[in-house]
Amino acid sequence: MNAKAPEPSEDDISASEEWLYEVRKKIYSRAVTGWFNNWRVIMVLLTQALFYGLPWLQWDGRQAVLLDLSTRKFYFFGMILWPQDVIFLALLLIISAYGLFLFTAIAGRLFCGYACPQTVYTEIFMWIERKVEGDRLARIRLDGADWNARKIGKKTLKHGLWAAVALWTGFTFVGYFTPIIALAGQVISASLGPWQTFWILFYGFATYGNAGFMREQVCKYMCPYARFQSVMIDKDTLVVTYDTERGEPRGKRGKNVDPRSEGKGDCVDCSICVQVCPTGIDIRDGLQYMCIGCGACVDACDQVMDKVGYPRGLIRYSSENAMKNKWTKRQQWAHLFRPRILIYTALLIVMVSLFVGGLATRDPLKMNVMRDRGVLSREIPGGLVENVYQIQLMNTTEKSRKIRVEVKGLEGLAVHERDLYELPASTNILEPLEVTVPVDNAKKGIYKIEITATSQGDQPISASSKTTFIVP
Ligand code: SF4
Ligand code: SF4
Repeated sequence: MNAKAPEPSEDDISASEEWLYEVRKKIYSRAVTGWFNNWRVIMVLLTQALFYGLPWLQWDGRQAVLLDLSTRKFYFFGMILWPQDVIFLALLLIISAYGLFLFTAIAGRLFCGYACPQTVYTEIFMWIERKVEGDRLARIRLDGADWNARKIGKKTLKHGLWAAVALWTGFTFVGYFTPIIALAGQVISASLGPWQTFWILFYGFATYGNAGFMREQVCKYMCPYARFQSVMIDKDTLVVTYDTERGEPRGKRGKNVDPRSEGKGDCVDCSICVQVCPTGIDIRDGLQYMCIGCGACVDACDQVMDKVGYPRGLIRYSSENAMKNKWTKRQQWAHLFRPRILIYTALLIVMVSLFVGGLATRDPLKMNVMRDRGVLSREIPGGLVENVYQIQLMNTTEKSRKIRVEVKGLEGLAVHERDLYELPASTNILEPLEVTVPVDNAKKGIYKIEITATSQGDQPISASSKTTFIVP
């Protein structure tokens, strides 16, 4: 008989859970000012002016940027992208990826620290939090205090403002997919459709949860980029680094005392660099994957260094090689232009050129010709051999056009009956096209022919396609 394994006790389970999962400690990051903080503020303003403002911009009487999924057309400043233009989307994704590789190889998680939506919205939500509840110590005290009218009032105001920003963000997001002015009208008249309501609430809820509560947890546990960015950096990449040799041994010291005489380094162990860190890490423990490279600790430590009268830069953007070899700034910059960076830059230039060139020379008229599978070839009255095709014409411009279709490649080849098509602005039509040749002109066989569609009127545009004509 098998002995039954003892059931694990509750203590065992909780001990293993403790080992597996660390309980989140709320981070009360302290406000900081300085050069890098200014850049973060500029980036928040720039990205949000773009995100919130762009859908309201009108162009040729239409929303300048509109991703109209219902008609599967993307409007972009007077340009219309169709599903057939998916190559441009692919190129855009490749450009973004190479851009990310390049910036990461130069200066680590620059994108995370300054432009990632998670960072940007967390900054906005933290700014509201500070305005309502005060800076770090005031917030710690408020959270520790008993619930009273003051605490309820502050918390209600904070969450109300967060919810307003989140809902506005959700509304703006949906405004990229459906005309935003009409959407605003529907919100005001309380006549929003179920899908619009769902997506506004969904996106708003995601913003509220991610920027208000999850914050650094998204960077630590959910962001895939955090996991693989280490393979994109090397020993010459600039990352936020604590100068251990200069700073250690850390410790408190008396005023006007040369730390070296006491055997101490420049770090006064004030822990302000830890208090300002939005991910709650201590950069003095070395490079960590949770560091989003925001530079808040650099600003904070520089202020401390100013106060105690030591040179700035105890925490700074530097590379492993620069630290080890004690490179000057000039030597450090020189090592930025290494093969990896040059290759990424060259690839990026090629991709951007392809993208811009492709867009600039995009065909305003597109045509696809497919053979009608039901009627390959037949003799019709009048001594003619007829082949039937399906012709798809796409007018990618905002102007209505009349299109004439012509054929060549065989003597006597002609379009039968209908050769003129009306093509309204930014439309796509699929029509039959009958092509004939006199029976006497062609022997039995398969002939290569060319079909050309040309717009009538000023500045004609044309498209052509090769296909075959079968004589039975
Ligand atoms: S802010 Fe600078 S001085 Fe203060 S603990 Fe951090 S590294 Fe040391
Ligand atoms: S360690 Fe410094 S740079 Fe890294 S996330 Fe914290 S404050 Fe930002």
